[in-house]
Amino acid sequence: MSTLLPPQEITVQYIQARYKSILAEVSCVTPLASWSVQPNGVFLTSHKSKYGWAKTDGTIEVNQWYLGTQAVNKLDMTIRHELAHLCRGLTHAHDRAWTRTAMLFGVRDDLVPVSEIEQIKSRIPYKYQVYANLANGERRALGGAHKKTKRYTEYNPNDRYKQMTIDRIRVLSFDFEEHEHHD
Ligand SMILES: [Zn+2]
Repeated sequence: MSTLLPPQEITVQYIQARYKSILAEVSCVTPLASWSVQPNGVFLTSHKSKYGWAKTDGTIEVNQWYLGTQAVNKLDMTIRHELAHLCRGLTHAHDRAWTRTAMLFGVRDDLVPVSEIEQIKSRIPYKYQVYANLANGERRALGGAHKKTKRYTEYNPNDRYKQMTIDRIRVLSFDFEEHEHHD
């Protein structure tokens, strides 16, 4: 993908059509005969934190939260990303071999407009609620989080360079509560 795709509402049909044309394109780059797993169609998933998923049966899954957004470039990258996993083999994760294939397949996440990521994130319910425990005994809700980030889990209140304050009150620790939500 050298130029950005124009915004368009994403439907199931749109995802199928993009999958077909991207597969046709990347199988010219690397013939299917040399792929580790043969591609076997695209489906929707309700996974809570992944944009996409490549499976051992050759199917790839795209998060249902794409539907109704106009995140066409991010969708394009997700399909290329997952096809690169099928081509390389699912045990490679994101190692150098996979990265080479991903580049050949045109994966360029840096080109995806931030607005597209925001559109999708706004549709994904948060998994956790983050709380800060303050030096004065208060517990403050900080908002939702999709995962437990190191910024919070590895927070050290004694590291004066990374120490955080809220309303000038020192944060002693952070914790997470799982959010109840529907798929
Ligand atoms: Zn991946």
